[in-house]
Amino acid sequence: IPAEHIRNFSIIAHVDHGKSTLADSLQLTGTINKHHSHNQVLDKLTVERERGITIKAQTCSMFYKYNDKQYLLNLIDTPGHVDFNYEVSRSLAACQGTILLVDAAQGLQAQTVANFWLAYNQELSIIPVVNKIDLPAADTERVTKQIQSTFELDTANIALISAKTGLNVEKILPNVIEKIPHPTGDVNEPLKALLFDSWYDTYVGVVCLMAIVNGKLQKGDKIVSAYSGQKYEIADIGIMHPEQVPTGYLHAGQVGYVICNMKVATEAHIGDTFYHFKSPVDPLPGFEPAKPMVFAGIFPIDTNEFTKLDESIAKLTLNDASVSVQKETSIALGQGWRIGFLGTLHMDVFQQRLEEEYDANVIITQPTVPYKIIYRDGTSKLIRNPSEFPEPNEMSHKIVELHEPMSRRGEQSEYNYLDETRVIMRYSMPLAEIVTDFHDALKSRSSGYASFDYEDMGYQQSDIVKMNVLINKKPVDALSAILHRSQVSSVGKEWTKKLSEVIPKQLYEVVIQTAVGGKVVARETLVTQVI
Ligand code: GDP
Ligand code: MG
Repeated sequence: IPAEHIRNFSIIAHVDHGKSTLADSLQLTGTINKHHSHNQVLDKLTVERERGITIKAQTCSMFYKYNDKQYLLNLIDTPGHVDFNYEVSRSLAACQGTILLVDAAQGLQAQTVANFWLAYNQELSIIPVVNKIDLPAADTERVTKQIQSTFELDTANIALISAKTGLNVEKILPNVIEKIPHPTGDVNEPLKALLFDSWYDTYVGVVCLMAIVNGKLQKGDKIVSAYSGQKYEIADIGIMHPEQVPTGYLHAGQVGYVICNMKVATEAHIGDTFYHFKSPVDPLPGFEPAKPMVFAGIFPIDTNEFTKLDESIAKLTLNDASVSVQKETSIALGQGWRIGFLGTLHMDVFQQRLEEEYDANVIITQPTVPYKIIYRDGTSKLIRNPSEFPEPNEMSHKIVELHEPMSRRGEQSEYNYLDETRVIMRYSMPLAEIVTDFHDALKSRSSGYASFDYEDMGYQQSDIVKMNVLINKKPVDALSAILHRSQVSSVGKEWTKKLSEVIPKQLYEVVIQTAVGGKVVARETLVTQVI
């Protein structure tokens, strides 16, 4: 199939606006094995299905006849949560266009706006589509107006569909063919391939999804990662239809799977460029190695389960290159791990998979963001664990400043009315605030109406301190936390109170204190009740 008859596109949407349902429904119009159609082929993991979110992007190819010509349409499914923004932007880099799907009852939400800008900045053709028009609460006119006024997209012939019932879904693929440009790679140029997704398969090892930007990639070829310099040999290559169908090669413009001798998922860096051994090319722009932003300690409840849990964590991380793992020892909780995640949802999903797929019973400590210490000699260090927080004497002698990571969406503190029923607010705020219960608090205070999205904004100087929890004057390492100084008093009181409720009464007096640098901020005493 010539490049003129290929389209590489994705669907972007706020969570639950119907991306997976539409992907399934499109596959019924494109040629696909029919028995896959009922269980959302693109959402593979059980947790993804249960939570209704897509964590790892999946892709599939469809053959479609239009005006008597055969087209190859590659649908690239993007991850559906704010923690995975970087992966969304890399999967978009494999496309020339995207369908912006909006729920007719909910209208524009935070991730609709965030994803629109990701696609817009990559200069993709954007086709807006209104979904769920079968719902009684659907207000297609209002939502169409929102799309038109917020994104300045042409909505004159906008498709109004129900991905669930299939109504008007047949209008979408012709639109994709007419409005999205074909890929413009040159098959005679040296190979340039973008790795935009990967997973671990027990039988064949790491499976990569690549978009061939230029050149041709064949079975047996030797390729090199522009990021690591590692060399690999192609063992199998083909398209996702929707399962792996070997073709022996992929040409410029095509998207498909590549199996080479990668041993672990961490070798497959999302956004990395590959070229033929001895024909290096300039890497594609925008690559960043995965950057965990939320760290928590994980410990087995039963210390006898350490070895089993160690194996489970190793297996689970084989499939997730964005998780970082380090061994950690706590005086109170014993041996465990300090694990880094992209965000809190990513952490919840990891914990859920550990418990459900590997039958693990774990304690997870309060998550923390990476703080930065700036030394007098100009060097700096990231700390991911309260136990690494500098001691008071080190603070006064060697350290100039403490910095904490900030997050934002767009410019600072902006109010922007999308229409009379919706407003976008943008703030810059410490990432640590989002890591706690921000998402739940936002949902409950707005009765479920507000949605949010965030992006990294770098570090900013901050007055942060380490708060210790002391039981009978002894610090409990696993319970210490890094906080902003202004929060010490309220969080300190809250924690001592909570602990006094959960610690069983003893035959002797138990003193629970929270303290910063030797200064006690709150105190509770458990006294034995002698009857
Ligand atoms: P995603 O998070 O964007 O992938 O959304 P899903 O495809 O998982 O859909 C979220 C929910 O909306 C599911 O319960 C779907 O059955 C439902 N849904 C999707 N499309 C439609 C539609 O056109 N009409 C109705 N009534 N429900 C839909
Ligand atoms: Mg989905």
